[in-house]
Amino acid sequence: MSVFVSGATGFIAQHIVNDLLNQGYKVIGTARSQEKADKLIRQFGNNPNLSMEIVSDIAQLGAFDKAIEKHSNDIKYVLHTASPFHFDTIEYEKDLLIPAVNGTKGILESIKKYAADKVERVVITSSFASVVNVEDQANSKIVLTEKDWNTVSWEGAQKDGIYAYYGSKAFAERAAWDFLKENRDSVKFKLTAVNPVYVFGPQLFDEDVKAQLNTSCEFINELVHADPETKIDASVAGNFIDVRDVSKAHLLAFQKQETVGERLILSNGPFGKQDIINVLNKNYPQLKGKIPPSNPDTDAKIGKNACGVNNEKSKSILGFKFMAFEETVCDTVNQILKKENKF
Ligand code: NDP
Repeated sequence: MSVFVSGATGFIAQHIVNDLLNQGYKVIGTARSQEKADKLIRQFGNNPNLSMEIVSDIAQLGAFDKAIEKHSNDIKYVLHTASPFHFDTIEYEKDLLIPAVNGTKGILESIKKYAADKVERVVITSSFASVVNVEDQANSKIVLTEKDWNTVSWEGAQKDGIYAYYGSKAFAERAAWDFLKENRDSVKFKLTAVNPVYVFGPQLFDEDVKAQLNTSCEFINELVHADPETKIDASVAGNFIDVRDVSKAHLLAFQKQETVGERLILSNGPFGKQDIINVLNKNYPQLKGKIPPSNPDTDAKIGKNACGVNNEKSKSILGFKFMAFEETVCDTVNQILKKENKF
């Protein structure tokens, strides 16, 4: 029995595939092109338990039909991670909202069509972006839980790239829960959503460390390469989680009974940009003087502007301890500096 992982080439998904293979699962991954599929197969050392299918654009309804139909007798679990994650567009519907929503609706429709009685569990990689409104991300006066939703409208989500990405995750996750409500009698699977905050941590493979990293790690990469005069905007704040914890949670999300019907918020606390700078100055003498200075003042007020997150329920369901801020930042940076021969 196999686990189907959409977007297997992604930053988070590669860790998930790795953990699945290490736990002995057979994995069917999807990639946008044959070239990307071949690269992943090579990176995993031609592991016979990993096979790949091409799904070139999740915005097209029916995009998953062929892949799911081909493996319909074999797929027991589906992890849907594929979704565009960037803020860099003005075509909000085309580049963010529609692929996210159609990707989610599409994969669930394909399961219903071809594997309704085979797939037992579906895990949707949602986001904290579907929990929080953009304007509340840096509002320390509120505390959000698994019950909260980003309330942005479809029109409101077309204000800029950030609103569109946040909206894309909220509309896609809602589409998944709505699908299940409407199709309870036609599918067998139970649904779980995983809602991570900013995900940091190393790329699974060193060779994937490029000048520009995936959207969340780029947050750290940019500061590693900031010049000493760069002004650190204290109003930019959020919450963090390590990619290895996000991966672990995806596996537990389909392995545990207690996760059925739940939204799992993955967060290990707040951070601000200055907190990253402080960790860089403390741990990397080679960066001292080349990046903005530490500001010990902010140590006491770590991420003081980030919105509060109460994810006690998720943590108790998952039952493992998340990695600390300094560890996740350093593991991200070690890999960047190693690549640049500065380590
Ligand atoms: P990546 O950009 O590394 O991964 C996104 C994956 O989706 C890639 O495999 C990408 O393919 C695929 N994809 C995007 N658009 C399409 C499309 N139109 N058709 C087919 N495939 C597509 O980002 P992450 O690993 O960070 O994100 C993975 C998931 O986690 C996303 O759903 C994201 O919203 C969610 N998430 C991420 C967080 C973070 O901080 N990183 C926080 C919360 C949620 P390709 O590699 O070819 O581009």
